Amino acid sequence: MAGARQPTKSPPPPEANELKNYTLGERIGQDELSTVYRARHQTLDRDVHVYILRRAGWVAVSRFQLAARLAAKYVNPHILPVLDGGHDEKWGYYMVTPPLVAKPLQALLEKGRIDPPQALRIFAHIGQALDFLHSQGVVHRDVQPQTILVGEDGRAILTGFSLAWTADGPDLSQLAEADYLTPYAAPEQTFEDRTPAPALDLYALGAVLYHMLTGEVPPTPGSEPKKLGEVDPRLQPADRVLRRMLSPQPGMRYPSAAQAAAALRGTLRPSLGEGSGVQVTEGAVEANWLENPLEIVLRERIDGDFMRRSRERAEALHTGEGVRRLLDEWSADRPQRRRQLGQTVRIDQVVSYNLYFYDLKTLYETRTAPQNRERPYSGSKVNHRERDLDRWKVVVETPNASFADVAPSEVAIPNSEKSSVCPRCHGETRVTCGRCQGRGTVDVKRTVSTSTGTHTEVEVVDCPECKGAALLTCDRCDGTGGLMEQKLFTFSRRGRLWQNSDDLEGLPQRAIESRSEQVFVGMIDVHDPVWHAAQPLHELFSEATKLERDDTRIVEAELIIRATPVTEVDYTLRGKPRTLAIMGFDSGIRGDLSLLDTERLLMIAAVVVIVILLAVIFWFKRGG
Ligand SMILES: [Zn+2]
Ligand SMILES: [Zn+2]
Repeated sequence: MAGARQPTKSPPPPEANELKNYTLGERIGQDELSTVYRARHQTLDRDVHVYILRRAGWVAVSRFQLAARLAAKYVNPHILPVLDGGHDEKWGYYMVTPPLVAKPLQALLEKGRIDPPQALRIFAHIGQALDFLHSQGVVHRDVQPQTILVGEDGRAILTGFSLAWTADGPDLSQLAEADYLTPYAAPEQTFEDRTPAPALDLYALGAVLYHMLTGEVPPTPGSEPKKLGEVDPRLQPADRVLRRMLSPQPGMRYPSAAQAAAALRGTLRPSLGEGSGVQVTEGAVEANWLENPLEIVLRERIDGDFMRRSRERAEALHTGEGVRRLLDEWSADRPQRRRQLGQTVRIDQVVSYNLYFYDLKTLYETRTAPQNRERPYSGSKVNHRERDLDRWKVVVETPNASFADVAPSEVAIPNSEKSSVCPRCHGETRVTCGRCQGRGTVDVKRTVSTSTGTHTEVEVVDCPECKGAALLTCDRCDGTGGLMEQKLFTFSRRGRLWQNSDDLEGLPQRAIESRSEQVFVGMIDVHDPVWHAAQPLHELFSEATKLERDDTRIVEAELIIRATPVTEVDYTLRGKPRTLAIMGFDSGIRGDLSLLDTERLLMIAAVVVIVILLAVIFWFKRGG
């Protein structure tokens, strides 16, 4: 290139566009935190891009510095490197990257969905960057089309480390939700989390894949995503990979992006073909153990023997041979099953995990707000009020049996007595008779009939109420002249059973539940935060504690956890991708009709029909 000469440009006024050793050029874009300029290193004569922080505040500054530090530290072909960075008196915080000719994935998506082979390539590249970061103890937390750059050569590059988590990173827990909640964020994403899991990034990567393949922004977590088969029938087998990546349960996602990418290639290769850049090693079986979040949180409490047997079972199946042998045995067991199934199918992927079922028994105790109750009293003055007990501290006799319901009954609070002079009779024990107004007599009108007609006579008689005494015994104090007040509350207990399970979508629930074994049972504290660490338990405990209020508390709670080991096998039969499930320690198999020998079934049916026909003909002949 000796003959090539750069055209001479007239330099812009010096101080206006100078930042340290760089001469800033055209402004080429901006992202959430910074404005991006083309620039040139003055002494090295090298083109670069300079990012200048455009937001104020310490959070933005620490995020920007974090992004620069991480991108400079973690060198990977799929991470945009940072060459330089710092603070300039005039321009503020800046960082410098190579002048990558690339577009944000966001810009490509605005034109529509991405061609599947290219989408898989982007997925694999970003997955590689994420696996590398995760191996270094970094969680990116902001994987989305705006932080992915796609170069002209098709290489995908991850940027945007300003929300990343590292053990020594800044505390971003004060961050506004709007700054990190994108449609690609995992449902469990929060910046208060002390040690976020890589599963956050796998969800986001899955969400980006969903956008690339469907052309639509992912639906909010929990709502039903669009089936890939509706967009492009060839993509239908990838639905199950996507479903796993977008699972609301972090533990159900793939343990690494590489495994997700391999699963994706395995499922899409038959439909997209070899020439599409979708390749997988022939004969290799992808086998993964998916750890349930419950197992991470409650490792010490779950039955160890079950866990050991479950892992052994999975390892035996993960060799591929184990699955083949099992399928062969299964198919030899019944005549209608396809012969030598294990030799006929091509096993693409094997995934094992434990599915959990949760029963929570709770006993609610209600102690209503105390009410004053008065009774007649004539003894010496009593005032215990200063020492009366909190109603929740009152010991109430209850049945010995656990979780026994108790019908409502009134309970007095000890030391809540207070005597007083009866306010109605003022201690006089008697009150003026209301009927006679204290006269002792009442007028009685009487109609008298005589021969000349009728007239009314008035007669004065003793008051029938007070019998002429003009006074009545006070009915409030029952003639004692005093009252004793006491506080009472109504006590009752009522039990409830709450149930939940892991996500069983697409799996035969009853067949799995009937194979479950109890792995945990114990009386527990429903307010122990440990029960909120795994999603289905969190839902269960949230529901149960929602019924607690000022007058109602959970006084007993027992949790029973049952589990079934499940292995899902993705296989190809006659060119079509299919799935079967191997359930429990007795290896029950559930799959679709492809597992059956349909020709043999038709033949058996035909023989049955012929036999019936012959029988009918024979019967007619005898009858006729
Ligand atoms: Zn009285
Ligand atoms: Zn009277």
